[in-house]
Amino acid sequence: MMKKLVCALVATVMALGCWGQESEFGMWFKNRTLRVDYHRVGNAEMQSVRLVRYVAKNGQWGGSLTQLIDPMNNGDYRVVVKDAESGKAIYSRTYGSLFSEYCGTDEGKKKMVTYEEVVQVPMPLKAVDIVMETRGKDQEFHTTGMFHFDPKKNKPERRQSRHAKRLQYKGNSNWKVDVAIVAQGYEKEPAKLKSDFERMKNVILSEEPFASRKDDFNIWGIEGDAGAKYGTLGADRYLMTDELFKLHDLLDGVPFDHILILVNNDKYGGGGIYNFYAVSSTNKMSDMVTPHELGHSIGGLADEYVDENLSYTEIYKGEFEPVEPNITSLKDFESKWKDMLPEGTPIPTEPVKDLGKRDCGPLGVYEGAGYQSKGLYRPVTNCMMNHYAHFCPVCQKRLNEVFDLYTR
Ligand SMILES: [Zn+2]
Ligand SMILES: [Zn+2]
Repeated sequence: MMKKLVCALVATVMALGCWGQESEFGMWFKNRTLRVDYHRVGNAEMQSVRLVRYVAKNGQWGGSLTQLIDPMNNGDYRVVVKDAESGKAIYSRTYGSLFSEYCGTDEGKKKMVTYEEVVQVPMPLKAVDIVMETRGKDQEFHTTGMFHFDPKKNKPERRQSRHAKRLQYKGNSNWKVDVAIVAQGYEKEPAKLKSDFERMKNVILSEEPFASRKDDFNIWGIEGDAGAKYGTLGADRYLMTDELFKLHDLLDGVPFDHILILVNNDKYGGGGIYNFYAVSSTNKMSDMVTPHELGHSIGGLADEYVDENLSYTEIYKGEFEPVEPNITSLKDFESKWKDMLPEGTPIPTEPVKDLGKRDCGPLGVYEGAGYQSKGLYRPVTNCMMNHYAHFCPVCQKRLNEVFDLYTR
């Protein structure tokens, strides 16, 4: 009896705690989405952001009602929504974009470009300032521009709500990780579309830690041309899209947190950028490529492999610790996986030869990561972020932390 009473009390306190956070959301926002379309203009030396339009999405807000301020210090960009009257930060998210990779190329040092970008924020009830920040060379965020939104004055555009298939539905999107699969190139193959949706759903949910967290995911399927192309930034296998506005039009009415573009093409390729989108093809390797790209786009994980021929290798040059959790320059290893290392682990650790194809090998500090053979270190010999082994313990830990942001 006593036990029952305690349980009831605990449940009440937990419900109150939750209610407190949700009412914080309700104080500032409607459970709907404001889509902010803008251009990022510039090069490695200078950049600016220019508002293109506001869109009021159909359907509910798909993000969390409780995790309003982003606790992850990751990505090159951050959007911060501030109450215009008090200046209080009421919502923030960190993310990456193709623009920062472009800035790491030779061309990006001089030539000015314009990239489409989109951020989604919960629909403000009062006037807000939407502050667009960029991480500087000092690793801190600095203001690049600001958009003002006043629900009394701004009339956001509307789009036609799209019908998405529920490939897996486990509950209200406010408490789930919602992944939208946008299938491109299926106009003449409706039967293949159906089987590829099924295959991709299973691919997403079968690799750990996704598999153990299966019930935390909603998976949506939409067909349409997302503008994805091979050859991005001069790399033949780099499959990405520049047409962000078109992509987001396809997703109106879908309460997604993450986008996976599936290109119906047997050629090897893919790409993924943190809180931006991921792309994969129907190549026979896509069962491996897809979890890897979701590692980038959902987990904000870095590539753990070495490839010094890539055009955008300069993204990690500099005297600072990279922001991604799964690589280190040893400048601030305490902030990485040092606490997970077995005692007496040598730094650098000698890689294991003759590992099983999908084995990570023991946790250590292995030189060669983030495309560079020297000066950057990875947690294991092989990982999903390096040669498509399983996600290593460091990557799994971060993915679980990210999933928690959507579900708790
Ligand atoms: Zn990668
Ligand atoms: Zn890893």
